[in-house]
Amino acid sequence: MYDILIKNGVYPDYSQKAFIKGDIAIKDGKIVEIGETFEEAMQTIDASQKIVSPGFIDIHMHEERFLQNGRQYDIAEYMLKMGVTTCLGGNCGSARQPLTVFREVIESLGGSPVNYMMQAGYNTARTDMGIGHYNAATPEQISVLAQKMQEDILNGAYGISFGLEYDPGITFEEIMEVLNTQPQKDLYVSAHYREDSKGALRSIEEMIRIAKESGKRFQISHLSSCSAMGQMKESLEILNQAIIDNPRLQYDTYPYIAFATTIGSAVFDEGCFENWEKSYENIWVTDGKYKNQFCTKEIFEELRQNDPGLRVVAFVMNEDEIAAAIANPISGMIGSDGGVTNGTGHPRSAGTFPRVLGKYVREDKVLSLIEALHKMTQASADRLELYHKGRISVGCDADITIFDPDTISDGATFESLDIPTKGIDTVIINGKIALKDNRIINDRAGTFIPGPYMK
Ligand SMILES: [Zn+2]
Repeated sequence: MYDILIKNGVYPDYSQKAFIKGDIAIKDGKIVEIGETFEEAMQTIDASQKIVSPGFIDIHMHEERFLQNGRQYDIAEYMLKMGVTTCLGGNCGSARQPLTVFREVIESLGGSPVNYMMQAGYNTARTDMGIGHYNAATPEQISVLAQKMQEDILNGAYGISFGLEYDPGITFEEIMEVLNTQPQKDLYVSAHYREDSKGALRSIEEMIRIAKESGKRFQISHLSSCSAMGQMKESLEILNQAIIDNPRLQYDTYPYIAFATTIGSAVFDEGCFENWEKSYENIWVTDGKYKNQFCTKEIFEELRQNDPGLRVVAFVMNEDEIAAAIANPISGMIGSDGGVTNGTGHPRSAGTFPRVLGKYVREDKVLSLIEALHKMTQASADRLELYHKGRISVGCDADITIFDPDTISDGATFESLDIPTKGIDTVIINGKIALKDNRIINDRAGTFIPGPYMK
């Protein structure tokens, strides 16, 4: 007897670039058969008129800070509710907790709402050592940082992330020194670029060079917030050629015209508004006494001075450029860049994947359904060397998201993350039903997935 049988749906077959009709049987966490008729199952799901997709993989997000507000899981629940089954945290140089703590908490809780992978956050380690954001690290400090990164990799981190914009003191040479001392040739490295808008092309060139000279697998993070201020067309031309020349290079992007970060961050240093050709009124406050308001010059300066950790949203990107980064046929994956603090944050934390399928596929028709699914399942799985995920195939992990392509849409807004997503019917993680009709049924079906170099 099977554990779960999904009947009457269609699933994407990326090799044929087509949706195939076929029932899917699950047992012991794996897809065990695909075809027409099967034996009995403990549970049967009718997927008529629905797509049975591999679970969405969020290749770029910001993980939990455990026990904030006494809640065990915050963003992982939003991930699950938007159909994500596996996500990669520790991005933009920022690891919110030591990797060993993160891993142990998930293990002690007996699982997590989604499968979690984690990177070593370079900027976090650098700041922990007392190196100022604008200061260069000494050769001794760089050597200690390189060792710390290696320790995290041996403790199960999947790769290393850098946040170049957040610590302008990090030089090209510092990055190369850290990467060249990591013995793993195939190491995954991601980076939040050094500068956006007017500095976007320069930043992309720098990352292409790091990728080439280090030989590591290099991911340019959230291209949208780097280049969607007038530089996307040229950015994509340069990137697509660079990716053809060096297939170890890739990028991810998210479907919103605003980015979110802390107001004290170097992103908002003097000159930012001139670069974006925007002003204080484009900055939305997500928490505190000016919650759900746009800034004025006075509010912006007050918050930057007194509450630098406060999360704000900057509406500074152009819609057609966001669409171009998503639809790019040569390359690119979908990553939310979501991060939740005190239950608040950018709606991308809760709406990214349904938004791509609802707005960009169904409404705006900037890419086909199967292309979009590929960018949020198999492309990301392969990038993360999860060859048993991201596809509907016998023997693969039963991480599955069943949705209605006619109704799927994001609910989350800049005021609330809790407006439900529409159209997601069922989410299965490791062969267990984790979500049904927007209700979390099992918030422990996910696990921590260690990187390939864990001791
Ligand atoms: Zn970032």
